[in-house]
Amino acid sequence: MYIGLILFLCASNGLAASFADDPFVLVLDAGHGGTDSGAVGKKAKEKEKTINLAVTLLAGKYISERHPDVKVLYTRKDDSFVGLQERADYANKSQANLFISIHANAVKNTSARGLEVYALGDWRAADNLEVMKRENSVIYLEENYKEKYEGFDPNSPESYIAFELLHNKFWEQSLGFAETMCDEMKSCAPWNDRGVKQAGFLLLRGAGMPSILIELDFVSNFEAEALMMSVTGQKKYAQAICNAFSRYKASYDRRNSIKSATYLPLPEKETPANDPAPDRQVYKVQLFAIPRALPANSPHLKGYKADYYVENKMYKYTYGESEDWEEISQIRKSLLKDFKDAFIVAFENGIKVQVKRSP
Ligand SMILES: [Zn+2]
Repeated sequence: MYIGLILFLCASNGLAASFADDPFVLVLDAGHGGTDSGAVGKKAKEKEKTINLAVTLLAGKYISERHPDVKVLYTRKDDSFVGLQERADYANKSQANLFISIHANAVKNTSARGLEVYALGDWRAADNLEVMKRENSVIYLEENYKEKYEGFDPNSPESYIAFELLHNKFWEQSLGFAETMCDEMKSCAPWNDRGVKQAGFLLLRGAGMPSILIELDFVSNFEAEALMMSVTGQKKYAQAICNAFSRYKASYDRRNSIKSATYLPLPEKETPANDPAPDRQVYKVQLFAIPRALPANSPHLKGYKADYYVENKMYKYTYGESEDWEEISQIRKSLLKDFKDAFIVAFENGIKVQVKRSP
């Protein structure tokens, strides 16, 4: 199929137009689901499958809104179990142009955190074995896994090495996209960008398109778990995924001489297409910023039940929330005795934006 595609593109420029008429197909894959919870969070015991699904659906929503010419498909849209092979089969059957699998990481060491993006292909590094074992171990939950996966054993390094031979066709594009993704995702995981890795996930076996797997952060870390559970965090991740996709799509269009009228420059904010009041802002009062998350009983918080968002590697603590400017101004005033530098910040759909009013 791949060789066929190259021949096709070289054969005639005249055919490129009809090629462009086929929509670009993106398959988004929320890791785990149903009886397979994936990793489980350390503190709130949030299940990985829930985080994966929330971020996946949001990313798909943003991408659909920004790229009306892209067909966004999902391996699952609810909490149902989908086998690994079914996911790859679905992507192949849908003739997907790109495959993104979304997961969250976990390790015993609770201080470990950060983003990892895996490109499929050249698997050699032994330190990736643990992650691969975990992500692939779901096949034990499926009946007849031995026949289905042709003797694949998630605990055997040989099984992973076999992948390497099968999966180098889309390696360059997968790696390139993994790097773009990493770049965009740094805004969400600024503490520790663990970088692009290479792995032979069973999931990606048989996928006939560039494919990556994102480990958003570690649910085994308290702060990371809280971030991934928060709507603000999920929106940031989804937006970063959307931004990375936009960059990939732009270069895909250039490579294939597709005049993409529908490609929009990256907006500064995300607004749902059906929102009748797109400029509606939610105001909060920012109390202070600090390089790490604080425990709820921290003296810094002075007894306030504060929330936080993360920006530029800083935890920015906020208090209060209102769509009404007068109300938030009152809240800010009342906070000044405890936080003399408190000021008002604005969010749209969970994404921080410029305050449109002068305080
Ligand atoms: Zn996972």
